[in-house]
Amino acid sequence: MAECIFCKIARKEIPAKIVYEDRQVVAFDDINAQAPVHTLVIPKSHFATFNDVGAEEEALLGHMMLVATRVARDKGLHDKGYRLVANCLESAGQSVFHIHLHLLGGRRFAWPPG
Ligand code: AMP
Repeated sequence: MAECIFCKIARKEIPAKIVYEDRQVVAFDDINAQAPVHTLVIPKSHFATFNDVGAEEEALLGHMMLVATRVARDKGLHDKGYRLVANCLESAGQSVFHIHLHLLGGRRFAWPPG
């Protein structure tokens, strides 16, 4: 989508600290990190929310998860632990309407989340 900020990052039209990329996804560090490691994994194709992803995208969703675990390993979190978060719609905290996984690590997290 032309105006979507994460589409622009995927197309390299605006800068981001990209830590992983392949044909389907891009992973880049969050601009407002909430933990020592805070990386976002996005698909290159645009879906506004997880409600907009159909069953035909099952492999893409699985790939996003596997990329998140790969980045976690690359960032030294594999043995320490980490959190994967996906917010869907405003009440859950979604602020960018292009689906993404948050990979968070490097500190202890509370449960339940706020
Ligand atoms: P959410 O609130 O779950 O939609 O998460 C959106 C995340 O995107 C937030 O953690 C923001 O800090 C992050 N974010 C927004 N714009 C950028 C950007 N240009 N580069 C990196 N991260 C961004």
